[in-house]
Amino acid sequence: MCGIVAYLGDKEAYPILINGLRRLEYRGYDSAGVALMNGDVLTIHKCQGKVSDLESHVVGKSLSGSIGIGHTRWATHGPPNDVNAHPHRSTSGDLALIHNGIIENYASIKEELGHRGHIFQSDTDTEVLVHLIDDIQRTEKVDLAEAVRLALASVVGAYAIVVLDSKEPDLMVAARKSSPLVIGIGEGEFFCASDATPIVEHTKNVVYLEDGEIAVIDRTNGLKIRNVKNQEKTPFIQELEMHLETLEKGGYDHFMLKEINEQPRSIRDSMRGRLNLAKGEVVLGGIKDYEQKFVNAKRILIVGCGTSWHAGMVGEYLFEEFARIPVEVEYASEFRYRNPIVNENDLVIAISQSGETADTLAAIELAKNRGATIIGICNVVGSSIARVTHAGSYTHAGPEIGVASTKAFTAQVTVLTLMALMVGQKKGVLSGSNFYRLLNELDAIPEKVQKVLATEAQIKYIADIYKDATNALYLGRGYSFPVALEGALKLKEISYIHAEGYPAAEMKHGPIALIDEEMPVFVIATKGASYEKVVSNIQEVKARKGKIIAIVTQGDSVVRELADHVIEIPETPDALVPLLSVIPFQLISYHIAVMRGCNVDQPRNLAKSVTVE
Ligand code: GLU
Repeated sequence: MCGIVAYLGDKEAYPILINGLRRLEYRGYDSAGVALMNGDVLTIHKCQGKVSDLESHVVGKSLSGSIGIGHTRWATHGPPNDVNAHPHRSTSGDLALIHNGIIENYASIKEELGHRGHIFQSDTDTEVLVHLIDDIQRTEKVDLAEAVRLALASVVGAYAIVVLDSKEPDLMVAARKSSPLVIGIGEGEFFCASDATPIVEHTKNVVYLEDGEIAVIDRTNGLKIRNVKNQEKTPFIQELEMHLETLEKGGYDHFMLKEINEQPRSIRDSMRGRLNLAKGEVVLGGIKDYEQKFVNAKRILIVGCGTSWHAGMVGEYLFEEFARIPVEVEYASEFRYRNPIVNENDLVIAISQSGETADTLAAIELAKNRGATIIGICNVVGSSIARVTHAGSYTHAGPEIGVASTKAFTAQVTVLTLMALMVGQKKGVLSGSNFYRLLNELDAIPEKVQKVLATEAQIKYIADIYKDATNALYLGRGYSFPVALEGALKLKEISYIHAEGYPAAEMKHGPIALIDEEMPVFVIATKGASYEKVVSNIQEVKARKGKIIAIVTQGDSVVRELADHVIEIPETPDALVPLLSVIPFQLISYHIAVMRGCNVDQPRNLAKSVTVE
């Protein structure tokens, strides 16, 4: 949530900032703004709307300056409007600040500063911080870096900030706590950003700022890092592995469609170097030292939010079937607020595409404090979750820009499958022949995903028929139940059609009342353990004149007779069906949303990386 970007160097800052904001727009698009420092003149341009609105807004205005900060907002405090847009300025006018996160004690700080004569323009929590820093500078007679440090000591909440001060025109100060911040180091130039995507085209050398650290970036002295306790830290410079082309649409109309189509490759990348068919083994380097923890685990807890939670549910079935370990899947936000029973015998798997999900981070902290072993499954290398967990496996899906998650889901499920198979084999509860058979089947998945993608024209045809629906039902059993939930979520997220996912058999306990001839019912009815039962559920829907769109195994004739439409997917074991059956659901949501004129990559009210609780 909220994207922040900053530049200090010899070049004009504005083009770098605006390009960076375009890359970060997936994080929020309620408003956008920049502050530019030209000598000691600090200019702010900001407005409600998207980055493109900001571009129109600045036409004809002064945009010079080789130091600057930029922000794209996902509002938490105060509606999306011009005044609440970042950067925020101090009463003196000297300081400009951008912020990602929430200042939880903003109300008391605001009241106190109000008594001291500060006048607030906006409804945001952010604005109190810029006034507070300004106030400290004046009362304590300290420079910007020290004022930021002192201000942060009295702030409760989460933040990634960058501050400029026209009194110190060759400097910018950045800090973070629980919100991400990466610093790029180029030739005589520095960048700050919420993630590496605005940085990668300028430099591959980055420093991931740690919680409680403050970066002071000076034209003459370069980068210095200290913590809130004023201890100096040596910056740890890492090389980015990201490639620029992965951040472009590559000829597709939307990032979401590009990412859906990337899945044969991204699933393959999730398995690369991990699944060794010749040796008949799974090696997950990142958790190698924790294999015994898995093998001995009495229980696994999986925490996540949204799509990651759905992947976690697939993980539950995988670990229970193949490793015979009891699993509980928890919404991270619920887990942390209900005093859960968790201790050193538990193994917690935390799933998050961005690795920055605030609720998941908080759940990890809680479980860690109680002695549990924490394993992360994240996509973004170097992200907070990747760093706070004991060990983990990256999904290696490549940057996911579309707000509706697609390739991250299949990559998460792939990694969970590898983990469950590896643990089952090591524990000796999964027979050798079954293990090898499943490895071979998993290895064949990318090719099968390619075949499912080839059904797009048919899916588009179906999308056209149901694009005006106001409600939809998604049904599945066993491994297909989490996919039904994910299918419904995709439709809700990007097309704004109300949709529910249900275990197919649960339908008769309530939702069946909704079914009439207007209601599309998407059913996963692949050949497998509960095939006959699902066929009966389809009969029940047909008896009430509901419209059935079924995902079936190639060559199925029974469901074809009953359903209004069938989409065939290649045969695969039940446990791997989610990797195939989710694809038609992703595509149908995509095409329905496009046909309804919705902004697929930037759905209303949503942001990709939910870094606030
Ligand atoms: N709390 C700030 C605002 O509402 C920043 C929000 C965020 O980072 O998501 O403007």
